[in-house]
Amino acid sequence: MAQEESDWKRQLMEKEKEIAALKNKLEQLEKNHASVLELQDKVMQLSPLTAKPALSNEDIMRYSRQLLLPELGVKGQLNLSGTSVLIVGCGGLGCPLAQYLAAAGIGRLGLLDYDEVELSNLHRQVLHGEENQGQAKALSAATAVKRLNSTVECVPYHLQLSPENALQLIQQYDIVADCSDNVPTRYLVNDACVLSGRPLVSASALRLEGQLTVYNYQGGPCYRCLYPRPPPPETVTNCSDGGVLGVVPGIMGCFQALEVLKIASGQGSSCAQQLLMFDAQAFRFRSIRLRPKQAGCAACGESPSVTQLIDYEAFCGSAATDKCRKLNLLSKDQRITVQEYKSVVDNSGHHILLDVRPLVEVDICHLPFSLNIPLSSLEQRKSEDIRLLQQRIIQLKQQMAGDCHPPVYVICKLGNDSQKAVQILEKMSGSEMDSFTVKDICGGLMAWAKNIDSTFPQY
Ligand SMILES: [Zn+2]
Repeated sequence: MAQEESDWKRQLMEKEKEIAALKNKLEQLEKNHASVLELQDKVMQLSPLTAKPALSNEDIMRYSRQLLLPELGVKGQLNLSGTSVLIVGCGGLGCPLAQYLAAAGIGRLGLLDYDEVELSNLHRQVLHGEENQGQAKALSAATAVKRLNSTVECVPYHLQLSPENALQLIQQYDIVADCSDNVPTRYLVNDACVLSGRPLVSASALRLEGQLTVYNYQGGPCYRCLYPRPPPPETVTNCSDGGVLGVVPGIMGCFQALEVLKIASGQGSSCAQQLLMFDAQAFRFRSIRLRPKQAGCAACGESPSVTQLIDYEAFCGSAATDKCRKLNLLSKDQRITVQEYKSVVDNSGHHILLDVRPLVEVDICHLPFSLNIPLSSLEQRKSEDIRLLQQRIIQLKQQMAGDCHPPVYVICKLGNDSQKAVQILEKMSGSEMDSFTVKDICGGLMAWAKNIDSTFPQY
């Protein structure tokens, strides 16, 4: 009896030890998993990445279909495992790019984005889901990538790339992919890549068109060789005001993945002096040869003036995010706030509300009493639209009785185009048509939706 009891006790102790060991192992695993996906809010020094010495049986099984390609083979696959890629922007381009790089077995992926997931991202930023709304895009993308291939090391950065951190970050990666959507970031990434000697796989997508090229690679040009000076900020359109069909950045992001994989595996890209242009409407691809590297280039030329990173927002005259791209073309007395406009409406003041957005946006939503004449029609002085406005001004003058200048308030989505319209209309008033006063409504319809009428749709 005593013997039996001590046997049971011994067995129990052994089991308890086993449980403790398992618990310990699980804790370790959970810790590892959490540390891999720890969101970085500043740039840390990473341990060096080394290529695998050989493929495991699991690797062979996972990558078997691409291992069969003589262009890749075992050597190319091992090269992928030793390559780190920084993806700047986890949006419409960055999502498919990260997905295919992870699936193909790239060694380390840096995923950088300052932004959080929003509902309006989901039609094109396919790594994020409804449940990720409000979450840092970098973390959401890293989690999705880990689910696809847990052997890929992911480093999510929830930060804005800046002249202060770009060099330290980019120097830690072998290849950089620009998936950003604004001009200051393009110059910043370019200059940091030139200073660090890194190839830059760059793509863009807008509306139904996309472009792709590889900069600073095998003696080819850098971004500045082609665009020495930034475009005027008011001529730049981005996805949030120009629109984009989600599949177009999807296609361009896949092309970026293709070129990154070719460079990383050792095949090399033939896109160093080529620009691929994709027209989704006509379903046409064109590849044009770019001008070569310029001896006088400020970044990569023979005597470069850009020897350290500069203030790119000042250089480009615009913000390095697509969110607060605000023009300031008018003086304070040429503009009113949405609250001030609301009181005009409430006091049933005589006025014309001129909505200068394109018809496609007016179809999405508009204020019921607005007159729509798109900015482009004003710019081109389209006669039927000008006549219409003239008629409305005359009508209003009659209603107001007396010698007066009827007020015209101009609105658009965010309050940028409306300022341009005010400048045009001021020139027209009293010369091309009867005199009127004209003011811009600050912040446009989105400010109206935010501050005055929460039921008004935001897009
Ligand atoms: Zn250059």
